[in-house]
Amino acid sequence: MGFRRNPAEIVDIRAQPFNAPLREPFTIASGSKSEARNVLVRIKLRSGVLGYGEGAGSAATGRADQDLDLLRARAAGEVLLGKDARSWRRLLEAIEEEVDPRWGFLRAALGMAVLDAFARQSRMPLRLLFGGAERLVRSDVTVTIVPPSKAALDARRIVAMGVKTIKIKVGTDLEDDLGRVVSVRAAAPRAKLFLDANQGYSPPQAIALVRRLRSRGIEPMVFEQPVEKDDFSGLAAVARLARIPVVADESVQTPGDVPRLARLKAAQIVNIKLMKRGLLAAYDAAICARGLGLGLMMGGMVESCLAMGCAAHFAAGLGGFQIVDLDTPLWFRTSPTEGLSLGPGGVYDLSKVTAGIGVVPRATAT
Ligand SMILES: [Mg+2]
Repeated sequence: MGFRRNPAEIVDIRAQPFNAPLREPFTIASGSKSEARNVLVRIKLRSGVLGYGEGAGSAATGRADQDLDLLRARAAGEVLLGKDARSWRRLLEAIEEEVDPRWGFLRAALGMAVLDAFARQSRMPLRLLFGGAERLVRSDVTVTIVPPSKAALDARRIVAMGVKTIKIKVGTDLEDDLGRVVSVRAAAPRAKLFLDANQGYSPPQAIALVRRLRSRGIEPMVFEQPVEKDDFSGLAAVARLARIPVVADESVQTPGDVPRLARLKAAQIVNIKLMKRGLLAAYDAAICARGLGLGLMMGGMVESCLAMGCAAHFAAGLGGFQIVDLDTPLWFRTSPTEGLSLGPGGVYDLSKVTAGIGVVPRATAT
C-alpha cells in the first residue's frame, strides 16, 4: 500500500505563446493592435485534470517582449509545483508575491489556470467559486476608432447581433469623434451608447463632447476614462459639469485607488479587469467599490474567450455588474479556443458550463 496521492496536487505548469491575428486592427486613443500576442498557461494536476489561463498585456504597449513574458510566467509558475490546488487562495497570493505588479496579466494567467484546474477537479463551474449569483452576462460590443461610414456599418452589425449596448471609442480628434458617435446613433437609433476616451481628452474637451452630443439629442449613458488617469479632479469635473456618470478604468490599477476616487467623486463606476493586477486584486477592487457605493463594470484587454470567459464567470459569480464589456473575441480572425463563447445578444451563457471556465485552446492555436 503506497501513499494516497492528492489528486489536486499541481504536477506540471507550462507557459507558451498564444498568438492570433485580428480581423481588423483594434484601435483606441492610446494605441492600435493587429495581432493578439498573449500568454497561455497550462496547469496539470496529479489526477490528469488540466487548467488553462490567458494573459494579455495592454493594447497601448503591445507586447514586443513576449519571450520575457514567458520566462517570467515559467519562473513564477515554479512556486505552484507540488502545491494543492484546493488551497487556491494561498496559491494566488504566492503568485502575487512572485510576479511584479507591472506584469499583472501574468498574475491573471497563472491565477486563472489554478482556478480553472481546481474548479474542473471539483466538477464545478467557475462562477460558483466567485459566488454563483448569476448564470449569464450580457456584453456590449465596441465601435473602435474608425471613420463614420465604417462606424455605421459596425453599428448595424452589432444591432443585428441582438446587442443592446454599443461602446464607442473616442479621445482622438473631437470633430472626428463627434462624427463617429453621430453616425453610430443614426445607424442604431435604439441602442444604449457609451463613450470611452482612454485618457485622450482634456477635461474641457470631454465636457464639450458631451454637451455637443446632447445638443443633437444624443445622451451617452456613461463616459469611461475621459481624461488622463492621474487627473482625478478632471474626472470629477467631467462628472459634475457634463452631468454624466464617469467610469474609471486606467485610473484604477489597485484596490487602493478605489477609495480615493470615491472620496473625490471622480468616478461613479469602476472598470474591473483581471489583467490589471491579477484575480485577487480584481476581487478586492470590486468588493471595495461596492462597499463605497460605486457601480461595477467588467472589462478586459484584447483577450480570447479563455480570459474573457473567466471574466464572465467572475462578473456573474459576484453579480451586480452594471456594465459588461467582454467583446474582444469578436476581433479574432479565427477563434483560438473551443467551448464557451460570446453568443447572440452578446451573451456569455454560463449555465452550459459544467466545470471550470469551460474553454480550452484549440490544438492548432498552440
Ligand atoms: Mg477602457
